[in-house]
Amino acid sequence: MKYPARPPVSSLLLRTLPLLAACVTLLTDAAPSWAQEVTFDPEARLAELGIVLPEPPNPVANYVNGVQAGNLIFLAGKGPLRSDGTEVRGKLGRDLTIEEGYEAARITAINQLAVLKAMLGDLSRVVRVVKVLGMVNADPQFVDQPAVINGFSDLIVEVFGERGRHARAAVGMATLPRGQAVEIEMIVEVAPETAVRSAGGGEPLELTYFGAAGWRISDGNVVVLVDPWPSRLKYGGGGHPDDDRPDFARSDLAWSDTTLIDTLIPEADFILVQHGHFDHLGDVPYIARKTGASVIGTETVIMILRAYGVPEEQLYAVHGGEDYQFDGFSVRVVPGLHSALNDKHYHDTRRYDTRTPLEAPLRIDQFIEGGALSFLARFDRHTVLTMGSMNFIEREFQGLEPDILLAGINGSRLGLYDYDRRLLTATGFPPVVLPTHWDNFRLPYGFSQQDNVERNLLPFIETAQRVSPQSTVITPVHLEPILVR
Ligand SMILES: [Zn+2]
Repeated sequence: MKYPARPPVSSLLLRTLPLLAACVTLLTDAAPSWAQEVTFDPEARLAELGIVLPEPPNPVANYVNGVQAGNLIFLAGKGPLRSDGTEVRGKLGRDLTIEEGYEAARITAINQLAVLKAMLGDLSRVVRVVKVLGMVNADPQFVDQPAVINGFSDLIVEVFGERGRHARAAVGMATLPRGQAVEIEMIVEVAPETAVRSAGGGEPLELTYFGAAGWRISDGNVVVLVDPWPSRLKYGGGGHPDDDRPDFARSDLAWSDTTLIDTLIPEADFILVQHGHFDHLGDVPYIARKTGASVIGTETVIMILRAYGVPEEQLYAVHGGEDYQFDGFSVRVVPGLHSALNDKHYHDTRRYDTRTPLEAPLRIDQFIEGGALSFLARFDRHTVLTMGSMNFIEREFQGLEPDILLAGINGSRLGLYDYDRRLLTATGFPPVVLPTHWDNFRLPYGFSQQDNVERNLLPFIETAQRVSPQSTVITPVHLEPILVR
């Protein structure tokens, strides 16, 4: 099956990026590059908006500007204090227009960001803006509180993108201190400053989620990809009615969105492949040939890559149990188990070896599992334990003690005995847990993943907080780098 001609990436992204005010704003600004759009750098964003954060306003009574409890920061109410020391005063519906109220709320957002910056040191530690309470000094007849508080919300989403989307209340107040026009509180989830057991300093580890079980991990020296599959083809059912891309049957020839891959993956040193299914291996033939990266996987995986002409010196066939040292990076291959698909009626013993006739391009259904692996990837200061399935061999994980766990948490884990607790216990309650393989990977980037967030992510986060309260669970957003210091 031939994939139809596509629009250039920029217009494709306009169509498929998150349907959010934030992204619309980003995209309608003077043609920023894709790289700028996917880089999570709220302070650079503030600079682009021409906003200089003031000294955080001092508390005016016996309280503090913000309190951190666990990984949440509760910010005290702030108002529209301008940088010249004056503040926006007056009552909406009597003294001030909605536009003036909107501007007051925007000034308040700048003041809260100044408080956050002072508390965190770096706004990129914001994982998620959770909740906003906007109070409007309003005449009893005034009912447009949401339009006023949008001044706050719009700026927060402009600065933090997807992570800035928040739950909110916007209410009217009979009066506010000194007659200020608005007062606004905010709750923010943050990543720990030193989230890991290793010594501080040095370059942070940057992890970017491609969706499915796919990641890019880099310590600044080495770039490691895990199961990268940006193509996210609509295949084998499970698509979305608004996704107008063609349906692929499992018997169709495999296809990679090379335009998108070229945009997202300019370089790679290593590719770790956890098993041979299409949503893990499908884009690796193209990425391996294009980047020259070394690929580590089972013999089945390596046979498929040979069929696609990936040069022999790039290929490392492994069994599980190997522990290889490379330049600036080492990796232990951990024997694993595939997810218990079809309500546990899944077992696939097929393997490819040198006698298997394979000719590229393969059909999608020729991307067979071929055995499942995890990897303990050791970087300069961090160790990451990867998962490509919602399953694991408990004794193989014991003693590995990763700093960062990429935890497979799709719904099929619920068919396994006490999965979440066993996983977090066997891995030694990792300081940072990044849920993986939880999204609907048949949808392109930009489609809502809310269903999967609610079905897979939230229950896992709840259990993790109970079983392993010292772990920080960070919700990855597609293509937005997460920094772990
Ligand atoms: Zn699979």
